[in-house]
Amino acid sequence: MTQVKESLINFRGYKSKQVPYKIRLNANEGKNILLEDIIREGLQFNEEINLNFYPDNDATLLKAEISKYIGVSPANIVVGNGSSEMIELIIKTYVDKNETILSVVPTFSMYAVFSQIYSTKFVGVESNEDFSIDIEKLIDKANEINPKVIILCNPNNPTGNLLPTRDIKKLLENTNSLVVIDEAYMEFASGSMVEEISNYENLIVLRTLSKAFGLAGIRVGYLLANQKIVNIIDQVRSPYNLNVMSQWIATKALKNKERVIAYIEEIKLGREFLYNKLKENGMKVFKSHGNFLLFYSNIDNLGQKLAEKGILIRSFANELAGYYRVSVGDKSENQAFIKAIEEITKNEK
Ligand code: PMP
Repeated sequence: MTQVKESLINFRGYKSKQVPYKIRLNANEGKNILLEDIIREGLQFNEEINLNFYPDNDATLLKAEISKYIGVSPANIVVGNGSSEMIELIIKTYVDKNETILSVVPTFSMYAVFSQIYSTKFVGVESNEDFSIDIEKLIDKANEINPKVIILCNPNNPTGNLLPTRDIKKLLENTNSLVVIDEAYMEFASGSMVEEISNYENLIVLRTLSKAFGLAGIRVGYLLANQKIVNIIDQVRSPYNLNVMSQWIATKALKNKERVIAYIEEIKLGREFLYNKLKENGMKVFKSHGNFLLFYSNIDNLGQKLAEKGILIRSFANELAGYYRVSVGDKSENQAFIKAIEEITKNEK
């Protein structure tokens, strides 16, 4: 039988538990706050959506809405199937076999997964004990190994840590690499690099509608950069990469940004509630700027014990054994999660 390419021998791809659970707080998905509006307005298939034709390859209407939302010209935007496609496109466009991608660890696992798929080398600089990032250490490593791309998730998944913009600027000014800032969770924080894209030759910012917009199911993400970068990535992109339905729903969703702003505030309150309650229950909790919290517990198999109560959160293994990531849910989900934590801790005593 034909053997897979060398980089994929023993390869393990991305896996997220999608089994039915009463409460799913494992994948940082937002709530679908906009669906009601979209259904109320109706889908108007005949007038707006032509399923027999290929979608608009330039996603003109969608880019116009993104432009209004984020304050960047449509000429500086590439859209696609989630920010996942954007990460892949950057590697396809810029990193040759055996060239290096530099990041920090722990971080979003797909950077290393894509790196392996494309036979590139992934190097992760260890973050500090509290999961903050030592920017000098990262700059030193970059100058030592000269990576083609440096990718940072900000706020970082799964730690929730936020890297200040002054550190990112320092990195841009002291290295020659293409710097990618994955801002999947930036709506829940402040400190975006979006307005800097025209000030730096080598800066890309990634965004998604999967989190604050609660639209993970339609798979829409986008990339923001100067025109030189956008032009080449747009040519590498597969034609018609974003389907008609997703373009249409995303365009509508972006017109309702007030609803999203209210939802973000709700998540921040939920995040504070979970932070305080987890602490009260003896967990070591890390301050988070995302729609999730990382915490450490010495209770054996806490993830499994919560699963038995119908609640799914993210458990980690290896260096992060004993650490858990819980997504901030709605009020009743957060309360149910804390109630389960309280019951489990009581039983342990
Ligand atoms: N970046 C980060 C940091 C993420 O956590 C995720 C989703 N877990 C993604 C990108 C991918 O998001 P999507 O493809 O849904 O836009």
